[in-house]
Amino acid sequence: MSSELLQALGLGSTNAGTYLGQGQWSTTTDAGVLESVNPTTNAVIATVHASSQSDYDTVIERAQAAYKIWRTTPAPRRGEAVRLCGEALRANKDLLGSLVALEMGKSKPEGDGEVQEMIDIADFAVGQSRMLYGYTMHSERPGHRMYEQYHPIGLVGIISAFNFPVAVWSWNAFLAAICGDICIWKPSNKTPLTALATQKICNEALKDAGFPDLFFLINDAGIELSQQLVDDTRVPLISFTGSTQVGRIVGERVARRMGRSLLELGGNNAIILDETADLKLAVPGIVFGAVGTAGQRCTTTRRLIVHASIYDTVLSTLVKAYKQVEGKIGDPLDAANLMGPLNSKAAVDAFLKSVEQAKAAGGTVETGGMALPREGNFVLPTIISGLKNSDAIVQHETFAPILYVMKYDTLEEAIDMQNGVPQGLSSSIFTNNLKTAERFLSAAGSDCGIANVNIGTSGAEIGGAFGGEKDTGGGRESGSDAWKAYMRRQTNTINYSDSLPLAQGIKFDL
Ligand code: NAD
Repeated sequence: MSSELLQALGLGSTNAGTYLGQGQWSTTTDAGVLESVNPTTNAVIATVHASSQSDYDTVIERAQAAYKIWRTTPAPRRGEAVRLCGEALRANKDLLGSLVALEMGKSKPEGDGEVQEMIDIADFAVGQSRMLYGYTMHSERPGHRMYEQYHPIGLVGIISAFNFPVAVWSWNAFLAAICGDICIWKPSNKTPLTALATQKICNEALKDAGFPDLFFLINDAGIELSQQLVDDTRVPLISFTGSTQVGRIVGERVARRMGRSLLELGGNNAIILDETADLKLAVPGIVFGAVGTAGQRCTTTRRLIVHASIYDTVLSTLVKAYKQVEGKIGDPLDAANLMGPLNSKAAVDAFLKSVEQAKAAGGTVETGGMALPREGNFVLPTIISGLKNSDAIVQHETFAPILYVMKYDTLEEAIDMQNGVPQGLSSSIFTNNLKTAERFLSAAGSDCGIANVNIGTSGAEIGGAFGGEKDTGGGRESGSDAWKAYMRRQTNTINYSDSLPLAQGIKFDL
């Protein structure tokens, strides 16, 4: 099955990992090898040759040359290139969605959903290509006109995480492309195959229509080339998605060279259930948020803050729902399963370590708490009660399906708990009380980049700006005006009068 899937996507059992532009893939074989491992069995699916120093140099050189053409291509024409990529992804949705499920381990509907997100952002970017608006201002000087315009920024380095191996690239790459930029992608070394397949699908679409190379790809066996990309002054913007730990290093390094970074880092997302919460909505919202993608979404629900009056009912209902999920854990490509494996053995170890740490801090494992004794990286979805929000393990993002359930009495206390972690990505409240909802969304409410009412923390739509505050890095990607991150702003003043008045009324008579 997997070899047929690879073949259908133009991949083999060994693959070149660098797209050099001009239709060429690197022939490098001595810079290390990345193994793509199926998390369901821990068998190697295929290998990818990592990029060499000379590959990197060629990529940067050709990306710079492509930029010279692309920056002056009219933006609506740039939109047409992205439209074609979106169409090609539509045609390949089933295949690419299956490869995402196979390599990353998320369920097939979630794999397909990830490709759908790429298609959606392509559509969004096509429209945006005709709306790269700047303001016009009234000058304080007579006979003068002032306006601002947005120009492309140049080369954009995209470093992405394993858990959304393709969608995150497209959020960046499709907007950057309509903005007139050229992208260089360094995917996670755990998911090189989905990156290769995506690159090939988009390359074909662009080549057939005579567009230049917009998207380049490097793969790094270690972190040397990734760091070089981060430090490279020829790459004005680094968009990094990954852990807070690595993001902090990346942000500091880019800042040192006065580059721009867009950081999309870890979350520690909470749902508050007040005493009026509609449990028919809340329970599925919590279970999908905490268990979906086996707890490996940046927006996964990791903390549940429940009003004391409904705490016991909610906990027992959730435990029952989790038991139902337990019967549907397995191969993500099997449509009957709701939960797949964790992506790696190391992730299983981190899950077990967190459960032990929670127990040592006085937590009670209400359900789950163990790895499954079978091949692959399967664990049971886990609920832990009895911990305080301030406990070290609750403050930490363990990238696995562990939900900490806690009690509160007053809304103020619940909001303090929700905000009382280093991360600030996604948050939500289930309530039927209008005042409570509005207080949660007010300036004194949630401090996160995403705050929802009566839906869970995960599963954002592409139309809004996506990202979070504090240790989540402050970046915004995808919808709204996130496109501005990929452009440089210029203020222009034009004098059409016959004199040279100075601003602020300053006199400088010669
Ligand atoms: P990670 O930090 O281990 O790796 C992310 C990327 O950084 C990978 O491509 C990796 O190869 C690369 N990398 C590693 N060291 C580097 C270095 N020194 N310099 C440059 N690049 C380096 O993260 P992960 O395990 O792949 O992903 C999971 C994490 O990503 C979680 O914390 C999750 O919350 C976060 N995430 C955030 C968002 C978001 O939008 N906020 C989205 C997805 C994932």
